[in-house]
Amino acid sequence: MKAYTGRFAPSPSGPLHFGSLIAALGSYFQAKAMQGEWLVRIEDLDPPREMPGATSLILKALESYGLHWDRDIYYQSQRHDIYQAQIDEWLSSGQAYYCQCTRKQVKASGGYYTGTCREKKLPPGQGHAVRLCMTRPVYSFHDEKHGLIDVPEPLAREDFIIQRRDGLFAYNLAVVIDDIEQNVTQVVRGADLIEPTGRQISLYQISGHTPVSYLHLPLAVDSPGHKLSKQNHAQAIDIQNPVPTLVRAMVFLGFQLPQGIEAANLAEIIDWGCRNWHIQQLPDKFEIIL
Ligand code: GLU
Repeated sequence: MKAYTGRFAPSPSGPLHFGSLIAALGSYFQAKAMQGEWLVRIEDLDPPREMPGATSLILKALESYGLHWDRDIYYQSQRHDIYQAQIDEWLSSGQAYYCQCTRKQVKASGGYYTGTCREKKLPPGQGHAVRLCMTRPVYSFHDEKHGLIDVPEPLAREDFIIQRRDGLFAYNLAVVIDDIEQNVTQVVRGADLIEPTGRQISLYQISGHTPVSYLHLPLAVDSPGHKLSKQNHAQAIDIQNPVPTLVRAMVFLGFQLPQGIEAANLAEIIDWGCRNWHIQQLPDKFEIIL
């Protein structure tokens, strides 16, 4: 059996908050329960949405919660050549194409892109996005907690964007290229990322790789459908006194904690979590209101 490799892949748009701590902890416990490695990858692909200093705050917070990563950290900002090479390969083989449609036009044609520029053979141009020809649509996939999850047909079939019109690389492309290169075997992350999962599996198939398996954790929300926002629970977690927040996050993840565990030290609590973690303990819900 292939050795287990898991990862936590935060975007540095702000400090670690309770919602991202859930993804960090869930992926960590799962990796360690599988005797695997746990990697950290900084997804700094989208500078306008990043906060200066967020990366070091995130890393400091992980350390103060006792979540120590294996291997060197990957930074997506240092990997542009690799993403560009894959896009260029697909452009030259005709598996990807330039598109000049605006978001407004896509919206007007029903919200999903219908392949308007597929046969146009547009040359590279300012403000042109790159789309991938969707030759391997994925209509459903298996989630380790939720079982079979359906992907809406128009979403599965869409020629989605792999490079934006402003030149930035699309999250779906970078995440799959990096998970392949880092030999990640399972992706554990928040349920907000269920939607792009089918596309990511399509990318594995188009590039001839075996997809990872997926486990989506309940998402911490302010109100139905609303991820934690900066105004309330998305405040930075306390890194001076981590135990109370750690215990709260472990309860969120469905642990039945022994009485008085708050009195133990942080490393003992994390170690207890690694030894007692089971996917079955996770709440069935896709989101939980805090
Ligand atoms: N960077 C993404 C985020 O912070 C997560 C990517 C992933 O786990 O696949 O939302």
